[in-house]
Amino acid sequence: MKRLFLLFSLIVSFVCGLCAQAKYVFYFIGDGMGANQVMATEMYQAAIEKRIGVKKLTMTQFPYSGQLSTFSASHRITDSSAAGTCLASGVKTTNGKEGVDPNDNKVRNIAEILKEEGWGIGVASSVSIDHATPGAFYAHVPSRSDYYTIGKQLASSNYAFVGGASFLKPFNVNQSNDDDLFTLCKKSGYTFVRGEEEFNKQYKTLDKIILIPANEALDDKLSSSGMLTYAIDKQKGHMTLPQIVESGIKQLKKHENFFFMCEGGAIDWACHSNDAATTIHEIIEFDEAIQIAYKFYLQHADETLIVVTADHETGGMALGNGHGLSLELLQNQKMSSGVLNDKIKNLFAQNHHPTWEMVKQILTESLGFYVAVEISEREDAYLQSIYKKMLLGEDNDVKTLYNNISELSNSAVQLLNQKSGIGWTTSGHTASPVPLFAIGKGAESFAGWHDNSQVFSLILKAIREN
Ligand SMILES: [Zn+2]
Repeated sequence: MKRLFLLFSLIVSFVCGLCAQAKYVFYFIGDGMGANQVMATEMYQAAIEKRIGVKKLTMTQFPYSGQLSTFSASHRITDSSAAGTCLASGVKTTNGKEGVDPNDNKVRNIAEILKEEGWGIGVASSVSIDHATPGAFYAHVPSRSDYYTIGKQLASSNYAFVGGASFLKPFNVNQSNDDDLFTLCKKSGYTFVRGEEEFNKQYKTLDKIILIPANEALDDKLSSSGMLTYAIDKQKGHMTLPQIVESGIKQLKKHENFFFMCEGGAIDWACHSNDAATTIHEIIEFDEAIQIAYKFYLQHADETLIVVTADHETGGMALGNGHGLSLELLQNQKMSSGVLNDKIKNLFAQNHHPTWEMVKQILTESLGFYVAVEISEREDAYLQSIYKKMLLGEDNDVKTLYNNISELSNSAVQLLNQKSGIGWTTSGHTASPVPLFAIGKGAESFAGWHDNSQVFSLILKAIREN
């Protein structure tokens, strides 16, 4: 089956190399997605089938692949705004800057260039739509944290489709008389649509759509929760990245040509928390979104290009910590470390002195500890010692970039990581090269080891050259 897939893709790519230019371009960016995050996911998928080896994702079956170096103009280890700017415009900039060069001159990104040529443009993410990576495709600000200005620039982008969690700062904290971003977007002709069902009812008559999850408020006083619910925590009704891509394609197909950037933004957040199971589930959902684009490619193979890459690696994720690699243990994790944290904090809020048995029960339900995952006496004593600190109020919350979680939740998830053989070197980013996968028109140029500043021109080449 896999061989057939590859053979078919190669034949289609070869035949299509002889014909038209790319008219439909998908640019998938897995934020924080290093090669080990991808490998861990493929090996995990085989491990839960009790096999050693890999169960392939869609992206790794694309016929052309390579790697990218990711350093920024200011740092060997980039942040998402400098990397996003580079992937969008081919220009390296200073960490923290968005859509501008190190001297704050505006740089033109590929979405804006194609918009001027009449293309339909889509920008989507599993985190908020004003975050660094989506922002790099429409905004130009000296500071990535200027979320209100970034949102204002989104309102004036005129892009046909925007999808993801809502705005982080929908109002101007400095100027309370300024319009909030919901009002500004509506004034520029955008309709906010909440959830896939509402989208399907409305999209046919709408030129410009901002698709947000049904559980996000359209309230100018409320900031977004910041992200779609993590894949590992999703319940029925929660919006998914594949749904966003499916909706985006429906909207963008109204145009003769389209460019669609879709970010797996929450991969980065899970890696900042050094939460391996949550990371793997995010990569699976990101890959399912890529599958939607791949289905579109199969119908328009001679005119479609799909590029998948990452802005940088997050966490320094390693596969092996000296104790083998027991990835199957990760299937016992049923929730992200953030949700586990909420459960533990609620238990302590509701019971002044919860018993160790009560805490253990949560660890069993959330991570399989003591039942499916064996816990040694030493490990048990370690977890209990943190529980005792919590009772005395002496435990320390662990602050990660996007989360603040109790020492007990963090230590329990780290213990599961260790037992699974996953190592992490940092809660920040690293300079590890990131994978690059491509299929379709012009995809062959993406093979090899490149710098992230080259992807912009490789995509333009696929569009411009016959
Ligand atoms: Zn990050």
